[in-house]
Amino acid sequence: MRKPDIFDEIIQCLKTGAAIGADASMSEETLHDFFTRPRRTAAPALVSVPAPAPSRRAAASSAPSAPSAPVATPAVQPGAVPAFAPDLPEWESLRAECASCMNCPLGKTRTHMVFADGNPHAELMFIGEGPGADEDATGVPFVGRAGELLSRMIAAMTFDRATETCIANIVKCRPPGNRNPSDEEAAACMPYLKRQIEMVNPKVIVLLGAVPLLYLFNLKGIMKLRGRWLDYGGIKVMPTYHPAFLLRNPPAKKDAWADLQAVMAEFGRRPVPRR
Ligand code: URA
Repeated sequence: MRKPDIFDEIIQCLKTGAAIGADASMSEETLHDFFTRPRRTAAPALVSVPAPAPSRRAAASSAPSAPSAPVATPAVQPGAVPAFAPDLPEWESLRAECASCMNCPLGKTRTHMVFADGNPHAELMFIGEGPGADEDATGVPFVGRAGELLSRMIAAMTFDRATETCIANIVKCRPPGNRNPSDEEAAACMPYLKRQIEMVNPKVIVLLGAVPLLYLFNLKGIMKLRGRWLDYGGIKVMPTYHPAFLLRNPPAKKDAWADLQAVMAEFGRRPVPRR
């Protein structure tokens, strides 16, 4: 039995708030009345690191939404095509292109190519490193233990994983033995991810761990850079810890939550005070 963590605590607060009628349209003061020990996290400093990417169109406005019930990692059928895709033909043709890709050796060892999960129209995008065994078996990113934690992180942020986020990886095929992707594998796959970012054109990207930081920004040092805003062709990017790292280092969840709260603020969603 897993021990409850900071994200369970936040989700419980959201549930309690929803049950007693708290919603995002309430004033800050009124909202505080629903929670006993409010906390605030200072916004991290902005570090602007330009990256080569197409300039994004004007961001659609995001209305703050009421805290919603937490979402579990969806049960997935092997090879399932996630929802929301069919109305975006370019997305589907890119998916088909990736499914037949043999541009690196990972194409030979994959069970399923892992394209993306969620909504390609989402304003919030998460980028991980690459599929593990569970993702290779199902064709859907972040469905294993790290995925379960990511789902709870997203729920704690008051986002719906399936409809309000788009989740992708640096590489789309599993590196055997769960090793990090090699430079060659990442280089072969990055053009696909760049096209996905261009199509999704999110308002904010959250980088999960050192691998996306390295391959999207050529930067090392997730410990130092987490929590600092980066810029990817006009898209705000927040690096934070990878959920698998958080599973091995639970005390770091506090820092990850601070990073995610800064992202929530970008969407006008209030950090939920813990009890
Ligand atoms: N870790 C990742 O980085 N991506 C996945 O899809 C699963 C685990």
